[in-house]
Amino acid sequence: MKAGVVKPGQKDSARTIEMDIPAISKGQALVRILELGIDGTDVEINRGEYGEAPPNEDFIVLGHEAVGQIENPGTTKLDKGDFVVPMVRRPDECVNCQRGQLDMCLEGNYRECGIKGAHGFLSEYLAEDADFLVPVPKELRNVAVLTEPTSIATKGIEQAIEFHGRSANPINIAVVLGAGPLGLLTTALLKLNGYSTYTLDIVPGSSLKAQLVESIGASYLDGNESSVMSLPDKIGNLDLIIEAIGNSTVAFQAMSALGTNGVLCLMGVSTGQKPLEVNASCLNMQMVLGNKMVFGTVSSNRGHFERSIESLASMEQKWPGWLSRLITRRLRLDKFRDALNPAPDNIKTVIKLA
Ligand code: BGC
Ligand code: ZN
Repeated sequence: MKAGVVKPGQKDSARTIEMDIPAISKGQALVRILELGIDGTDVEINRGEYGEAPPNEDFIVLGHEAVGQIENPGTTKLDKGDFVVPMVRRPDECVNCQRGQLDMCLEGNYRECGIKGAHGFLSEYLAEDADFLVPVPKELRNVAVLTEPTSIATKGIEQAIEFHGRSANPINIAVVLGAGPLGLLTTALLKLNGYSTYTLDIVPGSSLKAQLVESIGASYLDGNESSVMSLPDKIGNLDLIIEAIGNSTVAFQAMSALGTNGVLCLMGVSTGQKPLEVNASCLNMQMVLGNKMVFGTVSSNRGHFERSIESLASMEQKWPGWLSRLITRRLRLDKFRDALNPAPDNIKTVIKLA
């Protein structure tokens, strides 16, 4: 079978190779991968800035956002032809991993398929434990490739809502920073919750990203016209802010712009170094006097995947065709290197493997 691999630590190492179709062991099913989404993490791994090959190997099969179909269920309860989405993390021995909360791993010895210490899903076939395969209804086949990024947004939003429940005032205004795939999926989830949602990016108001924001009833904010710091004056008390860019400067601006009793969720990973001068006393005082809360969130567990699949179904029903518009480019596996040099107007690239 064909697979798309990279050599972690080496810039632009992405290439397609031939591998054996994996044999399934007890508890595993053989999955035919149908589609795989490329995200910023994959781009960073191919830049040599992130990622770790499995033990004793010098390459890693890339890809952690996939949908596939059961080819051989083995001894699992799955059936041939079922659609499934594989989870990303694999647990270590820590107390959280052992109870299924592998997204809250304490020891850091977890593996992440296609990212850290385990092969990913950019291959024609995958042998996987049923524990890490989440069934998807066949009606969602064409959008299920968005399940993994949705699960990241689901985890962030669920926690933000829980933390906001510290006080009695409701969430009226929610702001999403960034209208990439994660920002757009976050926007849709917030709209499903019924919040007045504002999504900020730096693309023009006529762009597809802005149209996608507006077409589900959220408001698009052009960051070239309104800075994050100006938002409270423009739209009011920012109850919830979700940073989905991975820009550390924006993250600090958001702390300051956050409203009274507000919650700021950081879900964009930033790499490299970026010194920043902040008025620490002022920020500290604002945080204390405003009961503000800032938290980071990474990865997702099986529950988040399952609830994401339900949310994707609700989105399909509420806004038919909207999710498919997020997928702006489809490439064949032998062209997957092109997906790792993203064009600015591109939203989500999906590799078609079948
Ligand atoms: C993935 C997460 C992962 C994170 C850090 C993201 O791109 O979606 O599953 O935990 O990268 O490696
Ligand atoms: Zn752990």
